[in-house]
Amino acid sequence: MNVVNLQMLGTGDAFSKSYYNNNGLLLGQGYTLLIDCGTTAPAAMRQMGKSFHEIDAVLITHIHDDHVGGLASLAGSMKDHGRKMRLLLSETLVDPLWQHLLQKGLAAKARAERLADMFEIKPLQADRYCELSEDITFKLIRTPHIQGRDSYSLLLNEDVFYSADMTFQPELLLKLVRKEGVRKILHDCQLTGPGHVHTTLKELMSLPEDVRRLILLMHYSDRKPDFEGRTGEMDFLEQHKIYSL
Ligand SMILES: [Zn+2]
Ligand SMILES: [Zn+2]
Repeated sequence: MNVVNLQMLGTGDAFSKSYYNNNGLLLGQGYTLLIDCGTTAPAAMRQMGKSFHEIDAVLITHIHDDHVGGLASLAGSMKDHGRKMRLLLSETLVDPLWQHLLQKGLAAKARAERLADMFEIKPLQADRYCELSEDITFKLIRTPHIQGRDSYSLLLNEDVFYSADMTFQPELLLKLVRKEGVRKILHDCQLTGPGHVHTTLKELMSLPEDVRRLILLMHYSDRKPDFEGRTGEMDFLEQHKIYSL
């Protein structure tokens, strides 16, 4: 069986100064998928000695700057080399993303009149498997984040759950583990305060132990060092480190 690796460009929340935006590289045999491309993605890639040209496609979970803020820069760097990056996203996010790029003045900066000028767009339907390569398949699962805005988590290769930013969904997590055989969960984690738009550490700690054992925490704040050793069976996902999934 082929091994698929995950290397996070960053594991921080939208305000983190220490950990970059929560964006990840999914590394298959001969195929690399960038999961989300936030404002800090270009700097994070540079620091890792990597180039956007090594990436085959970028996937967007939802329209927040820590997940899409680096897209214009990525598109620009492709354009300089006569290439267009493949952009995978839910069909429901295509228009909102374009509106966001227009609003931020990024479309004008990229001299784009439509999203297709910047990317080779592949709109996806939720709950349908998409095969990217011999060893990477995934489907989008719509999960709640901000009311009235669509956001999509990922089920990778049928048994790894990668959360978009999302509020606590214990039924979904239990169903994935108990009924669908999910054996690894990468989950956003707000360390302090009430979780209006994210899942809190306290909420994750309320899950049964066998589920907690499968969880790696990401999208956390700069207070992470204060919480080391205080997350039960769950470990922190570390930026730049390579994990086999
Ligand atoms: Zn975020
Ligand atoms: Zn968000």
